[in-house]
Amino acid sequence: MTAKILLVEDTSTELKVLKSELEENGFIVETATNGVEAYNKLYSSAPDIVVSDIMMPGIDGYQLCRMIKNDDETKKVPVILLSVLDKKIDNFWGKKAGAQLFLSKSIDLKELISSINATIRRYPVTDEYKSNLTAKAASNNSAQFKLNNILNDLLMKSVFSNEFRNLSDFLNYERILVEKLFSLFSSFVEYNVAGVYFASPDDFAENIIYIDTLGRNLSKNLLSDISYDFFRTMEEHKSVKEFKFEVVRMLLGKELDYQFTDLTSKIVIPLIFDKKLIGGICFYTRHDVDYSSFRYFDIMISELLAIFKMKYQYTEKEFMSVLDGLTGLYNRRQFEIGLEQEHNRTKRHPSDFSLAILDIDFFKKVNDTYGHQYGDYVLKTVADLMKQSFRKTDLLYRYGGEELVMIMPETNIEGAVIPVQRLRRMVEEYDFDYNGVKAKVTVSIGLTMNYPDLATAADVLKSADEALYRAKEEGRNRVILHEQ
Ligand code: GH3
Ligand code: MG
Ligand code: MG
Repeated sequence: MTAKILLVEDTSTELKVLKSELEENGFIVETATNGVEAYNKLYSSAPDIVVSDIMMPGIDGYQLCRMIKNDDETKKVPVILLSVLDKKIDNFWGKKAGAQLFLSKSIDLKELISSINATIRRYPVTDEYKSNLTAKAASNNSAQFKLNNILNDLLMKSVFSNEFRNLSDFLNYERILVEKLFSLFSSFVEYNVAGVYFASPDDFAENIIYIDTLGRNLSKNLLSDISYDFFRTMEEHKSVKEFKFEVVRMLLGKELDYQFTDLTSKIVIPLIFDKKLIGGICFYTRHDVDYSSFRYFDIMISELLAIFKMKYQYTEKEFMSVLDGLTGLYNRRQFEIGLEQEHNRTKRHPSDFSLAILDIDFFKKVNDTYGHQYGDYVLKTVADLMKQSFRKTDLLYRYGGEELVMIMPETNIEGAVIPVQRLRRMVEEYDFDYNGVKAKVTVSIGLTMNYPDLATAADVLKSADEALYRAKEEGRNRVILHEQ
């Protein structure tokens, strides 16, 4: 059988010479002098192979190739791209465009012919496939139209991926990361309730699903049903003993009275990496939504996997370490161990210890006004001031995001209030200055000690937390002592 070549070349003399050379060697040769013509001829003449120049005005060889490979109707026709120079970058794009072979225009005729033959043998186009092409010849959409579609689609995909990739700046700001995720989700996924969960390598860490209700007010019962449902799915991949939910975006106002059974469509997606559950997302809706048919779902999941994986590895590193990376203080896990130890010790050998929790005032505003780097600088500076105002035997920790705690062994509350007040004043008086940007910051502190009626370490912590809460309530920039 004689093979048919569609030869595409914008220089007419070159086209003529090559055409006759190929014909002399037994091929049938159809020609086109530009991409649009070539695309139309692909249908009308149904060739066994396309051999195209790369450099052409209008639609070039890469674009022609992309169009051919992007469409089920045409993608089985093999393409050889020819370039003037043997440039690496041409080869790269040629492969990206899906070409079967990339050849330099300067190769000799014999070599070209054997390459064409080999390619046709390797990627044979069936008669059925060809007749389908010719049958569609009249109705095929214009090349320019198809090209625009391809370009739009590629652009959409890359914009979409980029939106997710930008989130990687917020890996250590869980709450911000969650808010950004929800604002992305809500701009292209239909839902009434969405959830995000980050699994932790620490089995004792809290399992929290963050919930977005798109600014609607839903009942606590409904939300706890959703988190229950969600964590049952997660449990198939990791044991989840206790779980909580935290609502990130919900308006207060009149409560909408729908129930779990009203949420007729749902999708719960565990995100797994290296056989480990690293997190999950879910969407629940009251209408019929076919989530799997959502155009960019696959891209979204693979981008999410990348982000969740980075976040997991980040917490894994934190979990394995003893010190907090930003402040150089002991981390939360060490605090939990330290508090328990101190509490047990004073139970066995009656003595005092005090505990203070510090929280930066209006820290969110610092971040919002000056950026997160500035926020980090403030946090680090407050930690440094803290190191200066306490004794070497006092234990200093970073408890949460912007919360720092101090355990003062062998110190009752009257003794503890002195360094704690000193620290509060030092922060108040400190002139924060980062890259020439100046700011003033204050802190609120809750202080307690191991009073006999506080039976467990958790009770002591809770009493400090309550005192801190009051310090905020009563106007901030103050130390409040737990009252017996
Ligand atoms: P309040 O006076 O009531 O404490 O107000 P606040 O804004 O400090 O309180 P809130 O707890 O609502 O906000 C704390 C914010 O701290 C949330 C988060 O964006 C930010 N944050 C937590 N950890 C970090 C961190 O490591 N670096 C930075 N830059 N910001 C953090
Ligand atoms: Mg706080
Ligand atoms: Mg705060």
